[in-house]
Amino acid sequence: MSTLEIKDLHVTVDAEKDTGDGTGHKEILKGVTLTVKSGETHAIMGPNGSGKSTLAYSVAGHPKYTITGGSVTLDGNDVLAMTVDERARAGLFLAMQYPVEVPGVSVSNFLRTAKTAIDGEAPKLRTWVKDVNATLDALNLDATFGQRSVNEGFSGGEKKRHEIAQMELLDPGMAILDETDSGLDIDALKIVSEGVNRFRAKEDKAVLLITHYTRILRYIQPDFVHVFVNGRIADEGGPELAEELEASGYDKYVKAAAV
Ligand code: ADP
Ligand code: MG
Ligand code: MG
Repeated sequence: MSTLEIKDLHVTVDAEKDTGDGTGHKEILKGVTLTVKSGETHAIMGPNGSGKSTLAYSVAGHPKYTITGGSVTLDGNDVLAMTVDERARAGLFLAMQYPVEVPGVSVSNFLRTAKTAIDGEAPKLRTWVKDVNATLDALNLDATFGQRSVNEGFSGGEKKRHEIAQMELLDPGMAILDETDSGLDIDALKIVSEGVNRFRAKEDKAVLLITHYTRILRYIQPDFVHVFVNGRIADEGGPELAEELEASGYDKYVKAAAV
């Protein structure tokens, strides 16, 4: 069992543009409070630019984001004081919205290196190869996929399926999936959703599913839905809230946040 507690989190980003206040920093998260426990699936939904990815990157420890207030703890341990590697070893996994290319590193070496770093020892070769093949197969990726360079020439769907393969094989306690559904056709969306559902069917897994669209939530039923607008959680509820959003969109929240 583990609990991720985000309390009143404030985050600025190193601005590429002038922020007009002379600081060069722009506040993106303006006090986010959220608790995610093992066994729960949370959906964070909101319009583009509302800060959803900033939340994911801040929890994962991306250097571009500066925490200016609040806290993030995992079972009481200060996540913000951990290096990115320590966060991964503590059981946090972030599937990147825009995964980087790693030319010359094959998918299978990449996965094995990551697994070894997280577990502190290399996985046993025979079971590992079996696990990798079974995982790729379940995601409709053929065995040669393991020999390809990470993300080099991957289609959008292959990138997403590779992220899910990473999640299933690295087996973290808590997975943060940022826009895992974007750019997927319906077949790929189903395959990816099945992977997430396999993962969360295991004991004590938590999922934080970040998405702009409601359609993935037809395949992955969240326990909790949080509406994210302008760097804050504007509304919270159960799965019925996703259905409401599907019908009415984010408009009323965006208008309320603007006044
Ligand atoms: P979302 O994932 O909800 O679409 P993001 O977290 O990506 O939102 O972005 C939130 C806001 O932060 C946006 O207004 C975006 O323009 C801004 N932002 C993100 N990264 C940077 C950056 N490097 N420089 C300036 N602004 C940024
Ligand atoms: Mg965005
Ligand atoms: Mg985003």
